[in-house]
Amino acid sequence: MVEDEEGLAESLRRGLSADGHWVDLAHDGHRGLALARTGSYDAVLLDLMLPGLSGYEICARLRADDDPTPVLMLTAKDGEYDEAEGLDSGADDYLTKPFSFVVLGARLRALARRAAATADPHPTLQAGDLVLEPAGRRCRRGTHDIELTARELGVLACLMEQPGRAVSKQDILDQVWDTPHAIDPNIVEVYVSSLRKKIDAPFGRRSILTVHGTGYRMAPDGG
Ligand code: CA
Repeated sequence: MVEDEEGLAESLRRGLSADGHWVDLAHDGHRGLALARTGSYDAVLLDLMLPGLSGYEICARLRADDDPTPVLMLTAKDGEYDEAEGLDSGADDYLTKPFSFVVLGARLRALARRAAATADPHPTLQAGDLVLEPAGRRCRRGTHDIELTARELGVLACLMEQPGRAVSKQDILDQVWDTPHAIDPNIVEVYVSSLRKKIDAPFGRRSILTVHGTGYRMAPDGG
């Protein structure tokens, strides 16, 4: 939430926290933009008139960075907010003060639903020059296309979703196999071995690292 009226900001923060939201506050435009740019928020509540940078400017800069975080603009009085300018800057919705807290909660839920509905369920995954497009079932290392089986692709996607993070064999099994309870997690080793022969060995690389006692992790730089 970027709001320079500190009393209002604090009361909104308390209300949203009580609803189970985690809220960070900024009281000026520059701090607000810096926080929003961390990309770690489900939504940004933006006051329009702020010291430093206006709500329009913050929103426009986020959109210029291709940041898709939903933005709800909070405006001081009817007429201050120019809907056309707000939409041009990339805002998703706006509320005119004074607004009811119940309406704010409902608007936030609506924004979250829309964001979830438009999110790409199969984003392109990347680790260095290793690229996986799960939707198109395509994998490539640099400019070289690599043929993967459906199962290999599933295992690799598990590892590439969070490069650098250790993923257990059981987690891979749960995500990639339909009946994971009936299968020995060590089957994952077979697929990791065949993946290494396709995505690493021919290129002299090591991208899938063994985490002893746990499973595997993807080198964030692609090995
Ligand atoms: Ca203000």
